[in-house]
Amino acid sequence: MNVLVINAGSSSLKYQLMDPDTGAVSAKGLCERIGLDGKFTYKAGGKTVIDAQDVAMPTHREAIEAVLAALVNPEYGVIKSMDEIDAVGHRVLHGGMAFTESCLVDEACKEAIRKCIPLGPLHNPANLMGIEACEKVMPNKPQVAVFDTAFHMTMPAQAYTYAIPYEYYEKDEVRRYGFHGTSHRYIAGRALALLGRENNPEGTRIINCHLGNGSSLCAIKDGKCVDTTMGLGPLAGVPMGTRCGDIDATILEYLMGRYGYDIKEMLTILNKKSGVLGISGVSSDFRDLEAAAGEGNARAQLALDKFFYEVRKSIGAYAAAMGGVDAIVFTAGVGENGIGNRAKIMEGLEFLGAKIDPEKNNTRGVEAEISTDDSTVKIFVIPTNEELMIAKDTAALATK
Ligand code: AMP
Repeated sequence: MNVLVINAGSSSLKYQLMDPDTGAVSAKGLCERIGLDGKFTYKAGGKTVIDAQDVAMPTHREAIEAVLAALVNPEYGVIKSMDEIDAVGHRVLHGGMAFTESCLVDEACKEAIRKCIPLGPLHNPANLMGIEACEKVMPNKPQVAVFDTAFHMTMPAQAYTYAIPYEYYEKDEVRRYGFHGTSHRYIAGRALALLGRENNPEGTRIINCHLGNGSSLCAIKDGKCVDTTMGLGPLAGVPMGTRCGDIDATILEYLMGRYGYDIKEMLTILNKKSGVLGISGVSSDFRDLEAAAGEGNARAQLALDKFFYEVRKSIGAYAAAMGGVDAIVFTAGVGENGIGNRAKIMEGLEFLGAKIDPEKNNTRGVEAEISTDDSTVKIFVIPTNEELMIAKDTAALATK
């Protein structure tokens, strides 16, 4: 079976053609600068066949057309015709309270995604454009929407409720939603398998640290999400590459008053100029920060220390929330590759029974257990695979 996995942004579109059973990716790539000039990249057979080529893409429709043309190209394509694509799976950012799981795209599903636009104003319109472009270019092909928020919908009310007047929850659906849900769900499945508990998740307690450019932690009890660090939007939680994470709302009023910022300018600062970039003034990339800190840059070191501290604190909080922890997992760019970062985060968590093994921790980008033999908490590195989750959901719903 072949599933085309689409992750549409406002001016970009990532794609992968994948076998949902084996996870094998036959082709993948990226359309960039949609609505501007259009650049197309296509990789197949482990090689970059087309690298940022100029292809006119006034809308997402032309981007999808370019993807399909490459996939069926007689010279470098990986399928003979579009008939070999069985279904299309879309990553959708915000499913609000409407979606607790993935859904087959129909008019009602699209309307529900549209209704969530105020909650995901940057992403949901682009996700919808991707869906509608596929409908036009591949009518009658089953399409599935997979939501970043869906895995978190099992959170109990005490975790998702904000301590503001309750009417804002009742009338306006203001609550913690959480993101990276497809990644957290994939990791939950892999971690349970590594614990030998995939068929018996009751009683298990897993903390997943998805640490990348955007970062979130998830407390997973009995295989289900019971808490996560991101909130109504993806700005909350631990500090990130450029996002501030949790801050006191008083800061907004104070800085807006002092500098005359309007709310848009203030949010740009909190989304794009904060996090480890904001503290260090150096970079949002953890490799740059490590290099700068190594050369004695104190603010780069402070940015790293702040990040480690907040992630460590969140692990402690989730261990408390679940009454203990059986496994701590590191995933995404920093989690999968940041050997020193993982060691620093785990420093001081030995009281939980979680001990990292420096030699086993010397690993990058592959699934590995990195705890000592006498650690009562397993510590794992698990590369995430959101696309595989999307492909699997798509295959399951398309063949129902
Ligand atoms: P992601 O958003 O999951 O793609 O993660 C991207 C981030 O991973 C980058 O901003 C880097 O800071 C981080 N990263 C990638 N490779 C490494 C590495 N070898 N060591 C530390 N951080 C890394």
